[in-house]
Amino acid sequence: MFKKIFGKSCAICGKKTRETTVYLNERDETVHVCFQCVPQAERKALRRKPR
Ligand SMILES: [Zn+2]
Repeated sequence: MFKKIFGKSCAICGKKTRETTVYLNERDETVHVCFQCVPQAERKALRRKPR
């Protein structure tokens, strides 16, 4: 799950990125979304996880 501190994969496009926004999906699982895919995450009704 957390193999590396850096290089999380975006849950939507699958690219590795250091700058991710953490969301919770419908199953309350943590997913990382890169800044490019944030609008898509919002459309999929993912909830932004409070830090
Ligand atoms: Zn992405």
